[in-house]
Amino acid sequence: MIVQCKNCSKQNRLPAARMRDKAKCANCKQPLLPLTQSVAVASKADFDELVRDAPAPVLVDFWAAWCGPCKMVGPELEKIAGKRAGEVIVAKVDTDALPDVAARYGIQSIPTMIVFRGGNEADRLSGAMSASAIEARLSL
Ligand SMILES: [Zn+2]
Repeated sequence: MIVQCKNCSKQNRLPAARMRDKAKCANCKQPLLPLTQSVAVASKADFDELVRDAPAPVLVDFWAAWCGPCKMVGPELEKIAGKRAGEVIVAKVDTDALPDVAARYGIQSIPTMIVFRGGNEADRLSGAMSASAIEARLSL
């Protein structure tokens, strides 16, 4: 997974299985974890690694750049990433860039949010809503 450093913005490669370790930025040596922001899923391989190996539940936002409601829900998911840092990993899947992943989960409308635990879908929610509504409706 590519994790951006909060301090210097360097993109660091970090295996999903280590996303609860004390990983440091390769550039400025500041701690990369816990993640307080979402991670962008760059490829199908990254997605598979993340949901399989992540040591915490993964909340995946299926979105697209042209989708108005996705723009509303994006900042709400960042709030959850900040509030639940170290407990929940928030990941973003651009359905235009990764149509295979979206098709595998039968994504019909966006935004759709899916919670994965141990590689399996545990819960799902569609539509734009506030961070508190998302947390109330999804088992995180
Ligand atoms: Zn850094």
